[in-house]
Amino acid sequence: MVSYVFPPPPVAALPIKGSDALFPVRRIFCVGRNYAEHAIEMGSDPTREPPFYFAKPADSVVINGADMPYPSVTKSLHHEMELVVAIGRGGRNIAVEDALSHVWGYCAGLDMTRRDIQNEAKKTGRPWDMGKGFDKSAPMGLLVPAAGVNPAKGKIELKVNDKVTQISDLSKLIWSVPEVIANLSELAELAPGDLIMTGTPEGVAAVVRGDVLEGFVEGVGDIRTKII
Ligand code: MN
Repeated sequence: MVSYVFPPPPVAALPIKGSDALFPVRRIFCVGRNYAEHAIEMGSDPTREPPFYFAKPADSVVINGADMPYPSVTKSLHHEMELVVAIGRGGRNIAVEDALSHVWGYCAGLDMTRRDIQNEAKKTGRPWDMGKGFDKSAPMGLLVPAAGVNPAKGKIELKVNDKVTQISDLSKLIWSVPEVIANLSELAELAPGDLIMTGTPEGVAAVVRGDVLEGFVEGVGDIRTKII
């Protein structure tokens, strides 16, 4: 029997809509610049460059409805509203045509970003980790099973204090959900429990303590958090 020098950490997990069971989170992969209008607002060329990825720790998830503490060492905490794909069956070199059969479900999520740290990292050619993968940086809505969800279209929206800041449609993803799964599975063997944040549309902006963020992905569900 294995013994550990201290108790292993608790399993990060997401609640599922209409179920008492939890979805155990293994890794969180995120796609960069996957909507043309967002690429433009970040000063990039929106042509279809190959997708690129960064990651957040599994335990950066914030459960739907829970508060998100304003992180340390930033003066520019940005919201990025995204569709999140939850992998239920792993694989490598997954074909685009088979990709959706690997999906357990979907949720709405927020890729919260220390934009000042990320911008400095871009300028200096350093990693994005401390701009993206910090504690509590991934508020997630309730998961819904894949059956009945069409990730190819549907409104995606974020309101901050009841005012719409981001609004777009999943049909504007530069790389579609099946294309992202196929491409990512060439770089990493996907496994059950992996989450993929698929990128944010235009309208990213800074939030402050006290702001209430309410996101919505049509056909998937809501995400709500308050910055404290
Ligand atoms: Mn993002």
